[in-house]
Amino acid sequence: MRKLGLGLAAAALCAAVPVMAQETAPAFDAEAATQAYMATLSGAARAKSDAYFEGGYWLILWGAVVSIVTNLIFLRLGWSARLSAWAGRRTQRPFLRSLLWAAPYILIISLMTLPWSWYQEYYREHQYGLSNQSFGAWFSEGTMGLAISIVVMSLLIGGLLALVRRYRENWWGIGAAATLVFVAILLMVAPVSIAPLFNKYSPMEAGPLREQILSMARANTVPADNVYVVDQSRQTTRISANVSGLGPTIRISLNDNLLNQGTPAEVRAVMGHELGHYVLNHSFSLLLGFGVIILLAYLSVAKLVPVLLRKWGGRWGVTEVTDPAAVPAAFIVLAVYFMLATPFTNSLTRMHEQEADVFGLAAARAPDGFAKVAMKLSTYRKIEPSTWEEIIFFDHPSGHTRVSTAMKWKAENIGAADIE
Ligand SMILES: [Zn+2]
Repeated sequence: MRKLGLGLAAAALCAAVPVMAQETAPAFDAEAATQAYMATLSGAARAKSDAYFEGGYWLILWGAVVSIVTNLIFLRLGWSARLSAWAGRRTQRPFLRSLLWAAPYILIISLMTLPWSWYQEYYREHQYGLSNQSFGAWFSEGTMGLAISIVVMSLLIGGLLALVRRYRENWWGIGAAATLVFVAILLMVAPVSIAPLFNKYSPMEAGPLREQILSMARANTVPADNVYVVDQSRQTTRISANVSGLGPTIRISLNDNLLNQGTPAEVRAVMGHELGHYVLNHSFSLLLGFGVIILLAYLSVAKLVPVLLRKWGGRWGVTEVTDPAAVPAAFIVLAVYFMLATPFTNSLTRMHEQEADVFGLAAARAPDGFAKVAMKLSTYRKIEPSTWEEIIFFDHPSGHTRVSTAMKWKAENIGAADIE
């Protein structure tokens, strides 16, 4: 009715123009507004963000190659078999033997792939101006991360090998279920036990923005004491926010880059998105979605590792799937599997992100704030990919998709008083 009223009023003011043309003309052209945003990222800046992101496509392939080659070396040089024999001489208990094998294995593989990690996480991030870290800080954080993954991965490998001994070739179903429980526990304890090792989490500083955010949180049934600020400017120049934890530890964290660089409307737009993840229980649905991906991963391992052992086990000194020494063969299968599963894992997260985007637009009612944040994120995420490129390689909607979603929402809500 309002649009019709405006159209008639405009027609009355401008009698030379036919009434119908006025009525059908949109009040706000979402497509033109989207294009205007797109035009603000051009030339060298756009070429740089495209190059950074497209380079990432190759990192997926090379990451898989690095994993396959290092595990092959570990098997071919007989290190895996010798490590397993050594662990077997230390203990009669199979679970303990698995742990004794797994801890040095993870350490050695991490050292072998250190140049790759350095290139990907340190050199390349600095090359594109996305990292704030000194080499020393990167290395010490990496060492801490490695210590944690040695504990976590050894327990997981030990547990799964116990299931292989118990259930033989049928271990994969129960293995995937057990992994999900293990991951759920990790997700639950991570915000209180792991995340604080790397960053400081503090309550938001008092002020009007905090009040606006907390009021938006309350309006969406999110308790106010679950909102934190994290000092990620120690590691990166990127703006970000996330939902972490599960059950009693679930929380929303905004990083300090976002608070320092963003306008209040931008911060609220991001908060609306994060509230979406929280309110829509994305932690659970993502866990279930990845559960299916893990189930198929383990099925591939259960079917293919015996084949690899039959073919090359003699040369590697590994014949039994219950032998910890067979684990690198499983990692080779997983490297290929997860590379091929990239479009599915990306689409699973991207669809959740799209859902949170739509929720956030309605919650924050700041479509331009959201579009501006999408433009900032596009300094390192290709802004206008092709349809298939977005499906295969994007774990978040592209800048173009996000701005277009925001502008369409704006077009449909343009008359409301509280839109920013
Ligand atoms: Zn998100």
